Amino acid sequence: MIKQSGEMEPFVDSDYLFRKLASGIPGILITYWLSADGKSHRFLFVGDQIQDILGLDPSELRASADAVFSTIHPDDSDSVYASIAESAAALTPWLCQARLQTKAGFYEWFEAHSKPERQADGSTVWYGQIHSIQHYKGLESTLRENEAEAAFQADFQKLIAKQSTAFITLGFGGIDEGISELLKVIGTFFRADRAYLYAFSPDYRFMNNTHEWCSPGVPALINDQRNVSIDAFDWWHEKISEMLSDNRVVFVEDLTQMKPGPERDMLAQQGVCSMFCVPVRVNGMVSGFFGLDSIRQRSWRTDQADLLIIVSGLLSGALERQRLESKLLSQSISDPLTTLHNRRYLMPRLNEMLSRSSRYGERFTLAMFDLDRFKRINDSIGHLGGDFCLREFAGILQEQTRDADVVARFGGEEFVVAFSDMSQADVRSTVSRIIRSVREHAFTFEGHTVPLTVSAGVAAVSELDSIPVAPDPVIRLADQRLYRAKKAGRDCLVDASGVSRV
Ligand code: GH3
Ligand code: MG
Ligand code: MG
Repeated sequence: MIKQSGEMEPFVDSDYLFRKLASGIPGILITYWLSADGKSHRFLFVGDQIQDILGLDPSELRASADAVFSTIHPDDSDSVYASIAESAAALTPWLCQARLQTKAGFYEWFEAHSKPERQADGSTVWYGQIHSIQHYKGLESTLRENEAEAAFQADFQKLIAKQSTAFITLGFGGIDEGISELLKVIGTFFRADRAYLYAFSPDYRFMNNTHEWCSPGVPALINDQRNVSIDAFDWWHEKISEMLSDNRVVFVEDLTQMKPGPERDMLAQQGVCSMFCVPVRVNGMVSGFFGLDSIRQRSWRTDQADLLIIVSGLLSGALERQRLESKLLSQSISDPLTTLHNRRYLMPRLNEMLSRSSRYGERFTLAMFDLDRFKRINDSIGHLGGDFCLREFAGILQEQTRDADVVARFGGEEFVVAFSDMSQADVRSTVSRIIRSVREHAFTFEGHTVPLTVSAGVAAVSELDSIPVAPDPVIRLADQRLYRAKKAGRDCLVDASGVSRV
């Protein structure tokens, strides 16, 4: 109470003043006493704010400080006790930070500041205050999060730069391996359990898992995910059309929240808890999607979708290059006029067939065909007419042979058929059928029908003294027999048994 005494300065009761001051500050003033043996403690004084902040009655704390200590977060209590013991031992100021459970039930950060004073009986008394530092802690953690975010983004950029370089330096035919490596790196970076690439069929009715990475211990799905029919997947079709129209990412954070349906059943069966799928485009068309699965419940940051779109861009580039490579490859091994395989394809296949015949005793026979008097055909119906006849003949060869046989244009109007594991008699009847078909076929170009026949020389590996290392001796023998067929009047075949007229 402030007493007025005439004209004099107001006289201030120090106890009254102290309490008023103590109640006016934002923190809680304390005088904390700890017995010499450290077994009992209490607050000789504690500001009334403790009632509002921690919901504790100051008068009870004067008997025991236990209630305050019981509000300390379990993770922080060891450090609080340690700091008090240290301050008591060395009589250095007590400074510590800890989370306390507030009246509202939440933990908030507080800081204690006080100076110790040893008493005659060995006990210690601290004079100081406790105040909230929640605001600073909040700022600090935002700052830390921002720093972590910047580091994450920088790591991601480095990773993408490294992976793009890896793709550029990949050798011909190495794209598949590059894609698998990328899935592994991205799956690991995002701490996913699976990372995968699917291709849609052109009509978007099937999807095919082409590449997959699984974190250790997570079962692979790729073998069960070949040509999966998605006709019954209404939800997925809706998502696919969003992918097609808006390049939209498909994000399922929690499978249990997903619309019930066959897709959800399939994901549940695969043990998936959450997933992210990003469309992958090839030549501007959505050709498939890239995805990450988590088999644990986890929170994904939706802004990571932007990063996954960058990954999908890398995959698009890789798939485009792969498509180009396979086109180049098929161009380099096929004959553009007849679309049959060319010599570049034939020779390694002959080598393979040879090695199979030496390893497994497979019969390997080669037939060489040469169109008869082809110069005359060109002379009568022109070079384009000749080309037409070559295409027609190629069609006959394909019709009359099996998929296992290798049919190739050897050069000019010469063709080769390599028969795998066929008896001499069967080869002879197939070659005879081809000769007959050519003779009976109407080669009609621009209204002119020209007569055309073909001769053939047939040689089997089994006729040679030993299995050669290269196919040349077989080719040479077939070629010699073809020459004999020409000499014998054409439109016939020559094999080990001599000339056969059909
Ligand atoms: P033979 O019965 O002895 O085989 O007589 P041939 O006239 O077929 O003789 P040769 O093998 O010497 O001639 C082949 C001809 O095939 C020569 C060439 O003009 C023609 N020719 C080769 N490649 C092509 C082609 O791509 N298109 C066309 N139109 N003609 C070709
Ligand atoms: Mg010829
Ligand atoms: Mg010829």
